[in-house]
Amino acid sequence: MISPPLSPLSQPGSWAAADVDKRCLWHPFTQMRAWCAPGHDPLVLVRGKGVWLWDDRDRPYIDANSSIWTNIHGHNHPVINEAIRRQLGEVAHVSFLGFTHPTAIQLAEKLVGLWPQGTLTRVFYTDDGSTAMECALKMAWQYWRLRGDDKRTRFAAFDLAYHGDTCGTSSLGGIPAFHERFGPLHFPVSRFRTVDEIEALPRSEAECFAAVAIEPLIQGAAGMRLWPSGSLKRLRAWCDRNGVLLITDEVMTGFGRTGTMFASLHEDVVPDIVALAKGLTGGYLPLAATLAREEIFEAFLGEYADLKTFFYGHSYCANALGCAAALANIGLFESEKTLESLPAKVELLQRLLGALAENHPHVGGVRQLGLIGAIDVVRRRGETQVAMEPYPWQEAIGARVCVAARRHGLLTRPIGDTIVLMPPLVVDAAELYQCTAAISQAISDVCGTVA
Ligand SMILES: *Cc1c(COP(=O)(O)O)cnc(C)c1O
Repeated sequence: MISPPLSPLSQPGSWAAADVDKRCLWHPFTQMRAWCAPGHDPLVLVRGKGVWLWDDRDRPYIDANSSIWTNIHGHNHPVINEAIRRQLGEVAHVSFLGFTHPTAIQLAEKLVGLWPQGTLTRVFYTDDGSTAMECALKMAWQYWRLRGDDKRTRFAAFDLAYHGDTCGTSSLGGIPAFHERFGPLHFPVSRFRTVDEIEALPRSEAECFAAVAIEPLIQGAAGMRLWPSGSLKRLRAWCDRNGVLLITDEVMTGFGRTGTMFASLHEDVVPDIVALAKGLTGGYLPLAATLAREEIFEAFLGEYADLKTFFYGHSYCANALGCAAALANIGLFESEKTLESLPAKVELLQRLLGALAENHPHVGGVRQLGLIGAIDVVRRRGETQVAMEPYPWQEAIGARVCVAARRHGLLTRPIGDTIVLMPPLVVDAAELYQCTAAISQAISDVCGTVA
């Protein structure tokens, strides 16, 4: 009897899957010539558990950037798995345009409850970080039009900001390599380097802003750049003085990543609008939420014919599977006491990063906020920032270090020559040791052990 040939994709360890990938796919933020080159063996990941991922040759790796900053409680978590399965047994998705469903309702109440009472009271569901921010921008814009204010037509954003890749959100973006080329498609944005610069604006200029957007406490895509302490609080005060809406982009920082549920809470700041995405479903499914204050919501109320409606939405808004995953994700913060477990891990990470900065001749500096770590790889270190000698960016040292790290059982993605170490919050002490050891060895493999 002749049996049909197995699909190449069903043969673990075979490279046929990678061949099909090279023939049919186009990967995000990826130079596809190098990807498709004959010498490149794409890493095919097939399963996960906790902080670990396995490739199709059954080799384990620590997921040291939480699958692009999304995963919170680990992969393949029984509680989140079960929540999705239970929802799947009911219904996977129904339209949220003119209908509602219990999982989305429960989740909204939970999300509102994560903020001080009576502050962020309304939840608008979107799909991902970009659409959560896009929604925030349009909300802010229409809010001022509905208020009859025709002056507030500008947005303020910061140098090196990253708020997503739609045309709207990349208008706010301040990373030249990602955003500059699309300049002619972008709406005009006033860009500032620091909160000081914003504070120095004359009142007449300040009152032209509809909103200012900021990644609170830490700019992720900028290379894990920390704001000077107190910056967010000062920006909040400036917004209050000038009637400008404060939009915080907690897409990366939300859900415990920085040690508190949200980064803004480090400075006791509540924004007028917040964007949540990546960690919302624990890194399981694309779902996002834009939360707004009641006063903003109320401006949109009127008769149908008033045309005050927020005409914005996506077909998968409030996807039921995503909402079920998100509810389980938030529930785990309580049942596993996730936030309570963090201080010890944060302190250990601080010691490990400190040792790396002290001892490795090619580590020029480290930064940390909560369980977000960043390691700058340099050709030669100096006593001062000026004396530091970086590698030419064309050498893609950061990328080479991350490829080398795979041999030491660790996966992450660099930002330039900065190595990101941002494991799921369930990471334990032994795994944190493994992370910094693997990164240290990978830097030595690529850069050598002497400067
Ligand atoms: C990742 C990210 C986004 C974009 O989110 P996507 O889900 O990738 O669209 C926006 N803002 C910040 C701060 C991010 O880190």
